Amino acid sequence: MDDCLFCKILKGEIPSEKIYEDDKVYAFKDIAPMAKYHFLFIPKEHGQNINDVSDFNTIFEAIKKVVAEYNFTDDGYRVVTNVNKFGGQTVFHTHFHLLAGEQLTGFGR
Ligand code: 5GP
Ligand code: ZN
Repeated sequence: MDDCLFCKILKGEIPSEKIYEDDKVYAFKDIAPMAKYHFLFIPKEHGQNINDVSDFNTIFEAIKKVVAEYNFTDDGYRVVTNVNKFGGQTVFHTHFHLLAGEQLTGFGR
């Protein structure tokens, strides 16, 4: 998608700080972190959000690899995906936020 921000990041047209990459998934640091660690995981194939996703395994396998590598496993972390208006989605290329490294608040906690 020519006018998609995350497709531009994938093409290297917009710089990003890479965390992880395989043939189907790319992960990078969020530009406006909402936790000590805030990474975004995106499928290399463009889709608007998880309404377009059928294979969740590939991206969650990638998330789990990074979780293990950064030792988030026991202290814990949060994975979030925002969908459309009520979900507060702002970038319309499927992405999962991985938040970790400190006590997370929200969700009534
Ligand atoms: P959403 O609100 O759609 O769930 O999440 C979009 C995320 O993309 C936000 O957390 C925002 O900070 C991040 N973001 C927006 N533009 C850029 C950018 O140019 N580079 C990076 N690394 N993150 C971005
Ligand atoms: Zn895209």
